Amino acid sequence: MPFKSLGLSDPLVRGILATGYSAPTKIQSEAIPAALEGRDLIACAQTGTGKTAAFVLPILHRLELMDPPAKHRNPKALILTPTRELALQIEGCIQDYGRYLDIRALTVYGGSKMGSQLQALKRGIDILVATPGRLLDHMDRKSVSLSDVEVLVLDEADRMFDMGFIKDVQKIVRSVPKSRQTLLFSATISDDIDRLAGGIQKDPLTIVV
Ligand code: AMP
Repeated sequence: MPFKSLGLSDPLVRGILATGYSAPTKIQSEAIPAALEGRDLIACAQTGTGKTAAFVLPILHRLELMDPPAKHRNPKALILTPTRELALQIEGCIQDYGRYLDIRALTVYGGSKMGSQLQALKRGIDILVATPGRLLDHMDRKSVSLSDVEVLVLDEADRMFDMGFIKDVQKIVRSVPKSRQTLLFSATISDDIDRLAGGIQKDPLTIVV
């Protein structure tokens, strides 16, 4: 099945092909159409399954179709991830697939330079990729507002628990409008994950690959 049949826009499909992918992986072919319909998702997928593209592509598609085009001061999409490495990987995917789109992403993680982040936030961004601690830092400084976030992704939610970040995550989620779409990705599904999902999602579709 080609990427085009998932309902993704032409410039986005060109970006995916230029990245070197010819067909969606299983998680992508199941998650992308449901995410494009606006559904909340619980996706149980390990690293290596192509899970990053499964949440990055629907976000890029949605931002590209916005009218007026994506030129927002506050981020419209927030991707929370537990580690710097994952944050940088997600940023790389956004740049790769979005190479023919005019979408601005910013990645913030502990230890990264504050100055350039504050400047980028002032200029305005469309997608914010963040580790929880650094994002709370920005929220405390009031350098970012989450009031326009329409899509929230929790990447590797099980590791958020393992690393002790879940309280921070919940605090951040409370600052995002309730009307959002919430995509939760986790390598494993536990009672903790179910309870978290129950508190922050609406009628989620569960996908297991
Ligand atoms: P992830 O599960 O997101 O960490 O992705 C694992 C690896 O699969 C990454 O190196 C991606 O570049 C690659 N990848 C993602 N989607 C596809 C695809 N549709 N076809 C081939 N490789 C892919």
